[in-house]
Amino acid sequence: MPDTITERCAAQGLRMTGQRRTIAEVLEDATDHPDVEELYARASTRDPNISIATVYRTVKLFEEAGILEKVDFGDGRARYEDADREHHDHLIDLTTGAVIEFVDEEIEALQEKIAEKLGYRLKGHRMELYGTPIKKRK
Ligand SMILES: [Zn+2]
Repeated sequence: MPDTITERCAAQGLRMTGQRRTIAEVLEDATDHPDVEELYARASTRDPNISIATVYRTVKLFEEAGILEKVDFGDGRARYEDADREHHDHLIDLTTGAVIEFVDEEIEALQEKIAEKLGYRLKGHRMELYGTPIKKRK
């Protein structure tokens, strides 16, 4: 499977304008879960002529092509990450909004077991945990 977002766009036959390429590059560089406004801010530093409408449309296009995955951390904002990333779940810090990524083999196995018990083969899941930091005692 092709690696970068730009390469996957090409593999899908998406017409890549300069601005789409810029947005693809911003997404490739992202290690977090930016929303459209954040992507627009980042893309603007590379191409000041880019509009938020273009970012919005491009992100939607990439999502429909299965290149991006939309994630929702409970605040009603659509955020995006590379759909090709290794599976992981998210814990959202409610005090700071920080997002911690994790994988837990026990949870993964348990979910498969539950699906199986209900007569299904598990094809995927999404889980977001919400928490506040536990204060450490001195
Ligand atoms: Zn993530």
